[in-house]
Amino acid sequence: MNRIHHNKEILVTDQNPTSTSGEEVTCRVCHATYVPDFINDFYADGADPKVGRCERCMMSEAFGVNTKSPHALPKDYENSVCKIGKGAATCAFLTMGAGGFQCGKDSTVEKAIRERLAEGTMRSKGDNCSGAPNFTPST
Ligand SMILES: [Zn+2]
Repeated sequence: MNRIHHNKEILVTDQNPTSTSGEEVTCRVCHATYVPDFINDFYADGADPKVGRCERCMMSEAFGVNTKSPHALPKDYENSVCKIGKGAATCAFLTMGAGGFQCGKDSTVEKAIRERLAEGTMRSKGDNCSGAPNFTPST
């Protein structure tokens, strides 16, 4: 990509000059390649501004928070594997989302579910599959 020569008149009116270079960066953790903006900024590890992590990876490493949304279930899983409505046999990670039932493993809700399982306050106690992406049923 050709760099546009900086023009002082543009820079004066630029509200956010640190994030508008328009150069793509690649997250060293998730390998997402994108142009940083104020929603998904880029956090350099050190002196090289091209080596670092995206906002999501920085947040999840800094705070132990997984920022992924729950995953769509494979077809027919809610009954055969997740065992919906089967009390303690029901998978604890089965969650309800806007599009229906979803798998909460590897998502923002996994940590809270595991904490409630450890406390014994989950009615559903199953750990019925491996979660995304393979959803391998537990035996
Ligand atoms: Zn990342």
